[in-house]
Amino acid sequence: DTAIVWLRRDLRLADQPALHAAAQRHARVLPLYLHAPEEESPWLPGAASRWWLHHSLSALAESLAALGSPLLIRRGPSTEALRQLARETGAGAVYWTRLYEPTGIARDRMVKEALRADGLLAESFNAALLFEPWELKTGGGEPYRVFSPFWRNAEARLDHLPAPLPAPARLSPPERSVAGLSIAELNLLPRIPWDEGFYPHWTPGEAGARQRLEQFAASAIGRYKEQRDQPAVPATSGLSPHLHFGELSPRSALLAAREAARTASPGWLASAEHFVRELGWREFSHHLLFHYPATDRLPMYDKFAAFPWRQPDDYASDLAAWQQGRTGIPIVDAGMRQLWQSGWVHNRVRMIVASLLTKNLLIPWQEGAQWFWDTLVDASLPQNSLGWQWSAGCGADAAPYFRIFNPVLQGEKFDPEGSYTRRWLPELARLPAKYLHRPWEAPSEIRRAAGLGLDSVYARPIVDLARSRDRALAAYEQIKAG
Ligand code: FAD
Repeated sequence: DTAIVWLRRDLRLADQPALHAAAQRHARVLPLYLHAPEEESPWLPGAASRWWLHHSLSALAESLAALGSPLLIRRGPSTEALRQLARETGAGAVYWTRLYEPTGIARDRMVKEALRADGLLAESFNAALLFEPWELKTGGGEPYRVFSPFWRNAEARLDHLPAPLPAPARLSPPERSVAGLSIAELNLLPRIPWDEGFYPHWTPGEAGARQRLEQFAASAIGRYKEQRDQPAVPATSGLSPHLHFGELSPRSALLAAREAARTASPGWLASAEHFVRELGWREFSHHLLFHYPATDRLPMYDKFAAFPWRQPDDYASDLAAWQQGRTGIPIVDAGMRQLWQSGWVHNRVRMIVASLLTKNLLIPWQEGAQWFWDTLVDASLPQNSLGWQWSAGCGADAAPYFRIFNPVLQGEKFDPEGSYTRRWLPELARLPAKYLHRPWEAPSEIRRAAGLGLDSVYARPIVDLARSRDRALAAYEQIKAG
């Protein structure tokens, strides 16, 4: 008999419970990818995510072909496509792994009902998270809103996680062959080649994920705790897009980190646990969006609904300057260029650019979240929503509103030599470190020698940092009072 394995954001062979169950229980396995982006509306995959998906599917198709059962690609709507394929192949079962965004949950529930009504076995598994969002509750039986108690509860259970599942050794395809599309026919790659800068940074797919994990576990993990806030240092894992597309299970990442620390040096243990804690933030973000499903667009705390954001007509040009990395604030522009060129930004810099947008520029956080959604290769609805609400001060366990980052001091603290800023902002390469993060204070002869003309955006930032800080605090007082 044949089982269909419906693949979505679980594009791997190892520790893939749907694929594992299908291979264990059925003689024949048909791996399937259904293209139905409109079913994820309003959060259709952004341009950078589509780039990643194209390459990840290509890598997966190769690995599946080597196992004996090639990847079939078809278009949705999902329910009809699955029913049709079951009829064509005589499949009696459909397996998949769960998504946790509201639209994914609603769609999967409908699919499951429809398939069961047809007499098919329809079963879903957890492949994306260490714990199901409904497994962890406060003492009072409520979902968590604060990270520390959430993580205390989760951490105590980590030693009891089941071991990762092996990849199937081989797969037999269905008896009747079926026709599908090529990956190219999905048109996921951009028509204008803005993606050239992505290739040197990324190898989408399970092998690329494993290689990244091995490299990280071999060295950077030892300096993670100390240096994870310095964007110039490769001290973080860079695993976020691999985790998002499910090319690697969080369980495998966690075990590899602990194992590396255990065998390398006792000094690495605390550092590895810090990394594990960040995997905990990933879990927490899924927990929040699952239990508070409107937080992808609405602030977690109601009082922020009345926040006096600026209006689109008023902020359009500032938003464009932020998106294009020409705010005149070096660390911010470096981050926004890193995002555009490589599809990724260091976490510390994400916090800095988000603070400037939401606090100094008083632009609604949803605008920033939308831009990140389109440009990040790791764009993930739970993590992006949490990151933006945290930065804007309106989310669960957020940064207190009144703690407003000063991007100049942040740059000087976390990129003191300026090598990150110079790398992504070559027009500042010749500015001495003393002025790098505050070029408008450099004497004119130094600016001239560095090649910065009077018309440069680095002559004056688009917003006065001190005045805009006061304006943000006043806006906050307004909603605090009312
Ligand atoms: P590491 O430091 O190596 O961490 C390991 C893994 O833990 C990451 O791959 C990621 O899956 C998870 N993680 C780390 N930090 C966080 C965090 N603060 N919150 C949730 N999970 C975390 N992360 C995304 O994966 N997708 C997003 O769309 C996203 N949007 C963000 C938006 C804003 C405004 C902010 C401030 C943060 C956002 N993050 C997002 C979180 C974080 O910046 C990235 O996960 C991290 O930079 C990825 O780099 P890394 O893999 O080297 O992380």
